[in-house]
Amino acid sequence: MTTTIVIGTHNRKKGREIAQILETPGLRLLTLDHFPGAPEPVEDGATFEENATTKAVELADALGEMVVADDSGLEVDALGGRPGVQSARYGGEHGNDQLNTEKLLREMKDVPVGDRTARFRAVAALAVPGRSLAVVDGVLEGSIATEPRGCNGFGYDPVFILPGEGKTCAQLEPEEKNEISHRGQAFRKLKAALPRFISLAHEERK
Ligand code: IMP
Repeated sequence: MTTTIVIGTHNRKKGREIAQILETPGLRLLTLDHFPGAPEPVEDGATFEENATTKAVELADALGEMVVADDSGLEVDALGGRPGVQSARYGGEHGNDQLNTEKLLREMKDVPVGDRTARFRAVAALAVPGRSLAVVDGVLEGSIATEPRGCNGFGYDPVFILPGEGKTCAQLEPEEKNEISHRGQAFRKLKAALPRFISLAHEERK
């Protein structure tokens, strides 16, 4: 029996990345491109967990399908965990990577190298109409550069230095980033738990 899961994002790049990870025989993965009338849940929760769960449940209710959704962002220790859930709109304009990165570097101007630790965090939620089934997370530790480097990726990738070789995330190939990324970790955890939730959903439909 084929099971359908809708990937709850309007971001095509992110949708492809998630589909690549979740791909399994017997699983039909759709994106919101298949549902032009899908609502756009407001992400105004205090935590990534809250936002990911709200998004997954609201979309599952609206579409009548099983849905995965995620929320993610950057937590900088010297800034008390900011930008956190504000990551996408930190610079004042939703999704403006350049403004976000510039503001971050400005705020970190006087922070010494040893105190620039940070992490990307991602939370993925799975829901069916009426309720959330699972919430998992992934974390990628690193530090904030003093200037951007590299041109791959998106968001804060050019200023996020990985431990070890000192490369930024924007200096990685997409596959290399998927292997270690916070989002990759979260969705691989979800993939491992999927068979159990799929049979549960089938049982409930009987
Ligand atoms: P959302 O999960 O799509 O709401 O993303 C929130 C924001 O966090 C993005 O707009 C980026 O600014 C930042 N972000 C999340 N994941 C990454 C990443 O892998 N690289 C760079 N920035 C990220």
